[in-house]
Amino acid sequence: MLYTSTRDNSVKVNASHAIAQGISEEGGLFVPCEFPQFSIEKIKEMASMTYIERAKTVLREFLDDFSEEELDYCVSGAYAAGKFSSDSVAPTVNITGNENVLELWHGPTCAFKDMALQLLPYLMTVSAKKTADRKTIVILVATSGDTGKAALEGFKDVEHTKILVFYPENGVSPMQKLQMVTQEGSNVSVCAVKGNFDDAQSAVKAIFTNDEIKEKLAQKNMMFSSANSINWGRLVPQIVYYFSSYCDLMNSGSITAGDKINVVVPTGNFGNILACYYAKKMGLPVKKLICASNSNNVLTDFLTTGTYNKNREFYTTTSPSMDILISSNLERLLYHISGNDDKLINDLMGKLSKDGVYSVSDSLLSDIQKTFSAGYADEDEVNGTIKTYFDKYNYLCDTHTAVALKVYSDYVEKTGDDIPTVIDSTASPYKFSKSVLSAVTGGNLPEADEFDMVKELHDKTGADVPKPLASLRDKEVRFSNVCSKDDMGKMVFKLLGI
Ligand SMILES: *Cc1c(COP(=O)(O)O)cnc(C)c1O
Repeated sequence: MLYTSTRDNSVKVNASHAIAQGISEEGGLFVPCEFPQFSIEKIKEMASMTYIERAKTVLREFLDDFSEEELDYCVSGAYAAGKFSSDSVAPTVNITGNENVLELWHGPTCAFKDMALQLLPYLMTVSAKKTADRKTIVILVATSGDTGKAALEGFKDVEHTKILVFYPENGVSPMQKLQMVTQEGSNVSVCAVKGNFDDAQSAVKAIFTNDEIKEKLAQKNMMFSSANSINWGRLVPQIVYYFSSYCDLMNSGSITAGDKINVVVPTGNFGNILACYYAKKMGLPVKKLICASNSNNVLTDFLTTGTYNKNREFYTTTSPSMDILISSNLERLLYHISGNDDKLINDLMGKLSKDGVYSVSDSLLSDIQKTFSAGYADEDEVNGTIKTYFDKYNYLCDTHTAVALKVYSDYVEKTGDDIPTVIDSTASPYKFSKSVLSAVTGGNLPEADEFDMVKELHDKTGADVPKPLASLRDKEVRFSNVCSKDDMGKMVFKLLGI
């Protein structure tokens, strides 16, 4: 299995190279040159497997330069009993009728990023052994909240790695911030950035491709890599849970093998929904992929008009992990749908970085729309949806999941297409206690700190509080660095002590 770059079709590398390096030299993203095909028979076989076995079945195809022992070491380590609070790792819960929620937040940091970031450090260290002999890998992360914590937790004290996380100073929830600044581990650092997520992400991308900085690291026997969803090692674990959820729906009798389903994904950087597109390309019977955005609805506009325009007001919402105007992984989708047109991708991404806007042809847009549908939910709709699902179905969801549920109900109303559907739930409601409590109580909030909110929400709803969040209260704050986006390069040296 070979991987190429969205911006240069002459690039050909294997999986371990793509994972260790993170991003291609010329700035493109690594993509598989072909997609393994899973027949309905094969999916039926997966139905009787555990999550770990299902994961190995999918990953084996993409990571064919990993030995069976290496694959087992990685996957069994990542999803070992006790790491996820649900035995099935990612359970699919029926809400009503054909509406099912895929709960992706039972990992150690209570957001869906754990599904990939528990596995990535294993994939990366095995890959590095094959490709980058004994170099220390420096993981550089820009986070809109959840990636940072999940990456810190995944990489803490992993040999031959260091991890530096930058988050927007005022762009994450209090719980997300607490999770990061109290992080334990001898190889971790955290720094707030004055700016929004896109500022932090753009600065990180610039640092990755800055020759001077790279040279200085090389002298210290270090190299950068990325734990953002631009890294192939982040995306490939996410393909697994779409197959797994489909198998669970078969096992519960909600569908029979071969039936088509729709999938709804609350989207930010376009990684999660792209993983489902890959599952569909591999043969998973998915009809429509519904892309759900919050008020930062740049993707809704793109998927309905064909023009991507990031020159617009940026909103700080109650679903901060989706407060993104540059969805990096859209580049991969455009590459595949355009028939691997690397010239086109260079042109479009050049326009995006120069003018902040590009348009695709009508025929490309219509090809995208054969698979994708899109919608968005504003803040009032998010609040209303949390309350409705709790009052009506006794199901407590977080703000990101609420975006998806609302966009889905709009989709059904508009199209009448109500076939069995999987709606991704990407975070525990307790990660966003204040917003969720406010929604459930109709805006009546007590004067209370984050932990009192958690207790209040528990008293009010009876939903279980995840242990990792409850234990944060007693942890010491370890990191209070703040820097401007222009000083992030300097901060990298400072944090690395070089
Ligand atoms: C990261 C995140 C998202 C967005 O996922 P993408 O892969 O970036 O599209 C949605 N919800 C939550 C809770 C997240 O942490």
